Amino acid sequence: MSKLLEVKNLKTSFKTHIGDVQSVRGVSFHLNKGEALGVVGESGCGKSVTMMTIMRLLGENAKIEAETITFDDKDITKPTEKLMQTIRGNDMSMIFQDPMTSLNPLFTIGDQLTEHLIKHKKISKKEAKEKAIKMLDMVGIPSPEKRLKQYPHEFSGGMRQRVMIAMSLICEPKLIIADEPTTALDVTIQAQILDLMKDLKEKLDTSIILITHDLGVVADLCSRINVMYGGLIVEEGTTEDIFYRGRHPYTWGLLRSVPNPKSELKEKLIPIEGQPPDLLKPPVGCPFTARCDYAMKICKEKQPPLFEIAEGHRAACWLCHKNAPKVESPIRREE
Ligand code: SF4
Repeated sequence: MSKLLEVKNLKTSFKTHIGDVQSVRGVSFHLNKGEALGVVGESGCGKSVTMMTIMRLLGENAKIEAETITFDDKDITKPTEKLMQTIRGNDMSMIFQDPMTSLNPLFTIGDQLTEHLIKHKKISKKEAKEKAIKMLDMVGIPSPEKRLKQYPHEFSGGMRQRVMIAMSLICEPKLIIADEPTTALDVTIQAQILDLMKDLKEKLDTSIILITHDLGVVADLCSRINVMYGGLIVEEGTTEDIFYRGRHPYTWGLLRSVPNPKSELKEKLIPIEGQPPDLLKPPVGCPFTARCDYAMKICKEKQPPLFEIAEGHRAACWLCHKNAPKVESPIRREE
Protein backbone atom coordinates (compact mmCIF):
# COMPACT_ATOMS: atom_id res chain seq x y z
CA MET A 1 0.00 0.00 0.00
CA SER A 2 1.41 3.43 -0.81
CA LYS A 3 1.59 6.18 1.77
CA LEU A 4 -0.59 9.27 1.52
CA LEU A 5 0.73 11.03 4.62
CA GLU A 6 3.99 10.56 6.49
CA VAL A 7 4.98 12.53 9.57
CA LYS A 8 8.39 12.21 11.22
CA ASN A 9 9.26 13.60 14.64
CA LEU A 10 6.66 16.35 14.83
CA LYS A 11 6.79 18.75 17.78
CA THR A 12 4.30 21.53 18.39
CA SER A 13 4.40 23.94 21.30
CA PHE A 14 2.44 27.09 22.17
CA LYS A 15 3.86 30.25 23.68
CA THR A 16 1.73 31.40 26.61
CA HIS A 17 2.29 34.06 29.29
CA ILE A 18 3.21 31.30 31.78
CA GLY A 19 5.60 29.43 29.50
CA ASP A 20 5.68 27.06 26.50
CA VAL A 21 3.04 24.32 26.43
CA GLN A 22 4.62 21.31 24.70
CA SER A 23 1.46 19.81 23.21
CA VAL A 24 3.07 17.42 20.70
CA ARG A 25 6.49 16.09 21.70
CA GLY A 26 7.91 14.06 18.84
CA VAL A 27 5.25 12.16 16.95
CA SER A 28 5.87 9.94 13.90
CA PHE A 29 3.23 8.04 11.95
CA HIS A 30 1.91 7.38 8.46
CA LEU A 31 -1.41 6.88 6.71
CA ASN A 32 -1.81 4.68 3.65
CA LYS A 33 -3.96 5.59 0.66
CA GLY A 34 -7.59 4.57 1.21
CA GLU A 35 -6.96 3.72 4.88
CA ALA A 36 -8.80 4.86 8.02
CA LEU A 37 -6.58 5.56 11.03
CA GLY A 38 -7.96 6.18 14.53
CA VAL A 39 -6.14 8.58 16.85
CA VAL A 40 -7.33 8.02 20.40
CA GLY A 41 -6.64 9.67 23.75
CA GLU A 42 -8.02 11.99 26.42
CA SER A 43 -8.49 15.66 25.69
CA GLY A 44 -5.20 17.55 25.83
CA CYS A 45 -3.12 14.52 24.75
CA GLY A 46 -2.08 16.23 21.50
CA LYS A 47 -4.27 14.36 19.00
CA SER A 48 -6.14 17.40 17.61
CA VAL A 49 -3.04 19.63 17.75
CA THR A 50 -1.12 17.05 15.67
CA MET A 51 -3.74 17.17 12.93
CA MET A 52 -4.25 20.96 13.10
CA THR A 53 -0.45 21.26 12.74
CA ILE A 54 -0.48 19.15 9.59
CA MET A 55 -3.28 21.31 8.16
CA ARG A 56 -1.55 24.49 9.41
CA LEU A 57 -4.64 25.70 11.20
CA LEU A 58 -2.90 26.94 14.35
CA GLY A 59 -2.47 30.48 15.65
CA GLU A 60 0.68 32.58 15.57
CA ASN A 61 1.78 31.46 19.04
CA ALA A 62 2.35 27.92 17.74
CA LYS A 63 5.92 26.74 17.17
CA ILE A 64 6.19 23.79 14.80
CA GLU A 65 9.24 21.58 14.25
CA ALA A 66 9.37 18.39 12.21
CA GLU A 67 11.94 16.23 10.50
CA THR A 68 9.56 15.74 7.55
CA ILE A 69 5.87 15.93 6.72
CA THR A 70 4.96 14.50 3.33
CA PHE A 71 1.46 14.52 1.87
CA ASP A 72 0.64 12.96 -1.48
CA ASP A 73 4.33 13.11 -2.48
CA LYS A 74 4.53 16.82 -1.61
CA ASP A 75 6.92 18.02 1.07
CA ILE A 76 4.81 20.09 3.49
CA THR A 77 7.35 20.29 6.31
CA LYS A 78 7.61 24.05 5.82
CA PRO A 79 4.84 24.85 3.33
CA THR A 80 3.90 28.26 2.01
CA GLU A 81 0.43 29.52 2.96
CA LYS A 82 -0.49 29.45 -0.73
CA LEU A 83 0.35 25.74 -1.02
CA MET A 84 -1.60 24.94 2.14
CA GLN A 85 -4.62 26.89 0.92
CA THR A 86 -4.67 24.76 -2.24
CA ILE A 87 -4.16 21.53 -0.29
CA ARG A 88 -6.81 22.41 2.33
CA GLY A 89 -9.41 23.20 -0.29
CA ASN A 90 -8.79 20.33 -2.67
CA ASP A 91 -6.95 17.46 -1.05
CA MET A 92 -7.47 17.60 2.72
CA SER A 93 -10.56 18.59 4.62
CA MET A 94 -11.60 18.57 8.24
CA ILE A 95 -14.86 17.75 10.02
CA PHE A 96 -15.24 19.24 13.49
CA GLN A 97 -17.24 18.15 16.53
CA ASP A 98 -19.77 20.95 16.38
CA PRO A 99 -20.97 21.64 12.83
CA MET A 100 -22.56 24.92 13.98
CA THR A 101 -19.10 26.40 14.42
CA SER A 102 -18.14 25.45 10.86
CA LEU A 103 -21.41 26.32 9.09
CA ASN A 104 -22.23 29.98 8.59
CA PRO A 105 -25.71 30.63 10.06
CA LEU A 106 -26.28 33.53 7.65
CA PHE A 107 -25.99 31.53 4.41
CA THR A 108 -28.08 28.67 3.03
CA ILE A 109 -26.59 25.20 2.94
CA GLY A 110 -26.68 25.43 -0.87
CA ASP A 111 -24.65 28.66 -0.92
CA GLN A 112 -22.05 27.18 1.42
CA LEU A 113 -21.72 23.92 -0.52
CA THR A 114 -21.53 25.54 -3.96
CA GLU A 115 -19.22 28.38 -2.88
CA HIS A 116 -16.71 25.77 -1.77
CA LEU A 117 -16.87 24.05 -5.16
CA ILE A 118 -16.82 27.19 -7.31
CA LYS A 119 -13.79 28.50 -5.35
CA HIS A 120 -11.73 25.32 -5.42
CA LYS A 121 -12.84 23.51 -8.57
CA LYS A 122 -13.60 26.52 -10.79
CA ILE A 123 -16.86 25.11 -12.14
CA SER A 124 -20.10 26.89 -13.14
CA LYS A 125 -22.90 27.67 -10.67
CA LYS A 126 -25.22 25.20 -12.39
CA GLU A 127 -22.69 22.35 -12.22
CA ALA A 128 -21.91 23.20 -8.59
CA LYS A 129 -25.62 23.07 -7.69
CA GLU A 130 -26.03 19.68 -9.37
CA LYS A 131 -23.03 18.34 -7.50
CA ALA A 132 -24.29 19.77 -4.18
CA ILE A 133 -27.65 18.00 -4.65
CA LYS A 134 -25.85 14.75 -5.45
CA MET A 135 -23.65 15.06 -2.34
CA LEU A 136 -26.59 15.78 -0.01
CA ASP A 137 -28.36 12.76 -1.45
CA MET A 138 -25.25 10.65 -0.98
CA VAL A 139 -24.97 11.53 2.71
CA GLY A 140 -28.62 10.59 3.24
CA ILE A 141 -30.36 13.98 3.38
CA PRO A 142 -33.92 13.58 2.05
CA SER A 143 -35.30 16.11 -0.52
CA PRO A 144 -31.83 17.54 -1.20
CA GLU A 145 -33.06 20.12 -3.71
CA LYS A 146 -35.39 21.67 -1.14
CA ARG A 147 -32.82 21.38 1.67
CA LEU A 148 -30.25 23.36 -0.36
CA LYS A 149 -32.37 26.49 0.18
CA GLN A 150 -32.49 26.09 3.96
CA TYR A 151 -30.27 27.55 6.67
CA PRO A 152 -28.16 25.56 9.19
CA HIS A 153 -30.63 26.19 12.07
CA GLU A 154 -33.32 24.34 10.09
CA PHE A 155 -31.32 21.09 10.37
CA SER A 156 -31.09 18.75 13.38
CA GLY A 157 -27.65 18.03 14.94
CA GLY A 158 -27.29 14.73 13.04
CA MET A 159 -28.39 16.31 9.74
CA ARG A 160 -25.96 19.22 10.22
CA GLN A 161 -23.14 16.71 10.70
CA ARG A 162 -24.25 15.00 7.46
CA VAL A 163 -24.07 18.42 5.74
CA MET A 164 -20.53 18.88 7.10
CA ILE A 165 -19.56 15.46 5.74
CA ALA A 166 -21.04 16.43 2.36
CA MET A 167 -19.08 19.70 2.47
CA SER A 168 -15.86 17.94 3.35
CA LEU A 169 -16.34 15.45 0.51
CA ILE A 170 -17.60 17.78 -2.19
CA CYS A 171 -14.15 18.57 -3.61
CA GLU A 172 -13.27 14.85 -3.49
CA PRO A 173 -10.34 15.22 -1.08
CA LYS A 174 -7.74 12.51 -0.68
CA LEU A 175 -7.84 12.87 3.11
CA ILE A 176 -10.58 13.72 5.60
CA ILE A 177 -9.61 14.49 9.18
CA ALA A 178 -12.64 14.04 11.42
CA ASP A 179 -12.17 15.51 14.90
CA GLU A 180 -14.67 13.94 17.33
CA PRO A 181 -17.35 14.07 14.60
CA THR A 182 -19.96 12.24 16.66
CA THR A 183 -19.27 13.41 20.21
CA ALA A 184 -22.09 15.97 20.25
CA LEU A 185 -24.64 13.47 18.90
CA ASP A 186 -26.79 10.90 20.66
CA VAL A 187 -25.80 7.24 20.41
CA THR A 188 -28.18 6.23 17.59
CA ILE A 189 -27.22 9.19 15.37
CA GLN A 190 -23.56 8.58 16.26
CA ALA A 191 -23.82 5.04 14.87
CA GLN A 192 -25.55 6.31 11.71
CA ILE A 193 -22.82 8.91 11.06
CA LEU A 194 -20.05 6.34 11.59
CA ASP A 195 -21.81 3.91 9.22
CA LEU A 196 -22.12 6.71 6.68
CA MET A 197 -18.40 7.53 6.92
CA LYS A 198 -17.53 3.87 6.50
CA ASP A 199 -19.79 3.56 3.49
CA LEU A 200 -18.43 6.73 1.84
CA LYS A 201 -14.83 5.68 2.51
CA GLU A 202 -15.46 2.45 0.64
CA LYS A 203 -17.35 4.13 -2.21
CA LEU A 204 -14.97 7.04 -2.75
CA ASP A 205 -11.70 5.46 -1.55
CA THR A 206 -11.00 8.48 0.67
CA SER A 207 -8.44 8.17 3.47
CA ILE A 208 -9.70 9.11 6.93
CA ILE A 209 -8.08 10.10 10.21
CA LEU A 210 -10.64 9.82 12.98
CA ILE A 211 -9.71 11.65 16.17
CA THR A 212 -11.63 10.58 19.26
CA HIS A 213 -11.42 10.17 23.03
CA ASP A 214 -13.64 7.08 22.76
CA LEU A 215 -11.90 3.87 21.75
CA GLY A 216 -15.31 2.28 21.12
CA VAL A 217 -15.94 4.67 18.19
CA VAL A 218 -12.94 3.65 16.08
CA ALA A 219 -13.41 -0.13 16.11
CA ASP A 220 -15.71 -0.42 13.08
CA LEU A 221 -14.22 2.24 10.85
CA CYS A 222 -10.45 2.14 11.40
CA SER A 223 -7.96 -0.56 10.50
CA ARG A 224 -5.14 0.94 12.60
CA ILE A 225 -5.04 2.97 15.81
CA ASN A 226 -2.54 5.37 17.38
CA VAL A 227 -3.03 5.81 21.12
CA MET A 228 -1.75 9.20 22.31
CA TYR A 229 -0.89 10.34 25.82
CA GLY A 230 1.00 13.37 27.11
CA GLY A 231 1.88 14.63 23.61
CA LEU A 232 3.30 11.27 22.47
CA ILE A 233 2.12 8.17 20.64
CA VAL A 234 2.27 5.53 23.38
CA GLU A 235 0.94 2.58 21.40
CA GLU A 236 0.25 1.92 17.73
CA GLY A 237 -1.01 -1.12 15.89
CA THR A 238 -3.88 -2.64 14.00
CA THR A 239 -7.31 -2.30 15.59
CA GLU A 240 -7.03 -5.99 16.61
CA ASP A 241 -3.58 -5.38 18.17
CA ILE A 242 -4.96 -2.56 20.29
CA PHE A 243 -8.24 -4.25 21.28
CA TYR A 244 -6.99 -7.79 21.88
CA ARG A 245 -3.24 -7.58 22.32
CA GLY A 246 -2.74 -4.07 23.76
CA ARG A 247 0.50 -3.76 25.76
CA HIS A 248 0.42 -0.25 27.23
CA PRO A 249 -1.24 0.26 30.64
CA TYR A 250 -2.90 3.43 29.29
CA THR A 251 -4.45 1.41 26.44
CA TRP A 252 -5.70 -1.06 29.07
CA GLY A 253 -7.20 1.87 30.97
CA LEU A 254 -8.97 3.13 27.83
CA LEU A 255 -10.30 -0.36 27.10
CA ARG A 256 -11.63 -0.77 30.65
CA SER A 257 -13.52 2.50 30.30
CA VAL A 258 -15.55 1.43 27.21
CA PRO A 259 -18.14 -1.38 27.06
CA ASN A 260 -17.11 -4.62 25.35
CA PRO A 261 -19.70 -5.12 22.57
CA LYS A 262 -18.98 -8.87 22.44
CA SER A 263 -19.56 -9.47 26.16
CA GLU A 264 -22.98 -10.59 27.31
CA LEU A 265 -22.12 -9.76 30.90
CA LYS A 266 -22.69 -6.27 32.20
CA GLU A 267 -19.09 -5.26 32.84
CA LYS A 268 -18.20 -2.55 35.30
CA LEU A 269 -16.56 0.34 33.42
CA ILE A 270 -13.52 1.67 35.24
CA PRO A 271 -12.42 5.27 34.64
CA ILE A 272 -8.70 6.08 34.63
CA GLU A 273 -7.96 7.81 37.92
CA GLY A 274 -5.78 10.92 38.14
CA GLN A 275 -4.90 13.72 35.78
CA PRO A 276 -2.84 13.89 32.58
CA PRO A 277 0.65 15.46 32.91
CA ASP A 278 1.19 19.20 32.83
CA LEU A 279 2.65 19.86 29.38
CA LEU A 280 4.13 23.16 30.54
CA LYS A 281 6.63 20.95 32.39
CA PRO A 282 6.34 17.46 30.91
CA PRO A 283 7.80 14.65 33.04
CA VAL A 284 11.27 13.43 32.04
CA GLY A 285 10.20 9.78 32.19
CA CYS A 286 7.04 8.03 31.04
CA PRO A 287 4.19 10.57 31.03
CA PHE A 288 1.78 7.95 32.46
CA THR A 289 3.89 7.22 35.59
CA ALA A 290 1.69 9.12 38.06
CA ARG A 291 -1.43 7.15 37.02
CA CYS A 292 0.10 3.77 36.29
CA ASP A 293 -0.42 0.75 38.58
CA TYR A 294 2.74 -0.88 37.20
CA ALA A 295 5.17 2.07 37.44
CA MET A 296 8.77 1.10 38.23
CA LYS A 297 11.83 3.17 39.16
CA ILE A 298 12.99 3.53 35.56
CA CYS A 299 9.57 4.87 34.49
CA LYS A 300 10.15 8.11 36.41
CA GLU A 301 13.68 8.53 35.13
CA LYS A 302 13.61 7.72 31.43
CA GLN A 303 11.06 8.09 28.69
CA PRO A 304 10.42 4.64 27.19
CA PRO A 305 11.01 4.31 23.44
CA LEU A 306 8.40 2.61 21.24
CA PHE A 307 9.26 -1.09 21.63
CA GLU A 308 8.40 -3.35 18.70
CA ILE A 309 5.90 -6.02 19.79
CA ALA A 310 5.15 -7.40 16.30
CA GLU A 311 5.25 -5.97 12.80
CA GLY A 312 3.41 -2.62 12.95
CA HIS A 313 2.61 -3.00 16.67
CA ARG A 314 4.68 -0.88 19.05
CA ALA A 315 4.25 0.30 22.62
CA ALA A 316 6.19 2.90 24.62
CA CYS A 317 6.27 1.14 27.98
CA TRP A 318 9.19 -0.22 29.99
CA LEU A 319 7.14 -3.39 30.59
CA CYS A 320 7.84 -4.26 26.94
CA HIS A 321 11.61 -4.28 27.52
CA LYS A 322 13.05 -7.81 27.24
CA ASN A 323 14.32 -7.72 30.87
CA ALA A 324 11.10 -6.35 32.38
CA PRO A 325 9.02 -8.39 34.84
CA LYS A 326 6.23 -10.30 33.09
CA VAL A 327 2.86 -8.60 33.57
CA GLU A 328 -0.39 -10.14 32.26
CA SER A 329 -2.83 -7.84 30.49
CA PRO A 330 -5.90 -7.31 32.69
CA ILE A 331 -8.05 -7.08 29.53
CA ARG A 332 -10.00 -10.20 28.62
CA ARG A 333 -11.40 -9.75 25.14
CA GLU A 334 -12.07 -12.56 22.67
CA GLU A 335 -11.22 -11.90 19.01
FE1 SF4 B 1 3.51 2.37 33.43
FE2 SF4 B 1 6.16 2.45 33.40
FE3 SF4 B 1 4.86 1.48 31.32
FE4 SF4 B 1 4.81 4.05 31.85
S1 SF4 B 1 6.59 2.86 31.27
S2 SF4 B 1 3.09 2.83 31.29
S3 SF4 B 1 4.77 4.07 34.07
S4 SF4 B 1 4.91 0.63 33.40
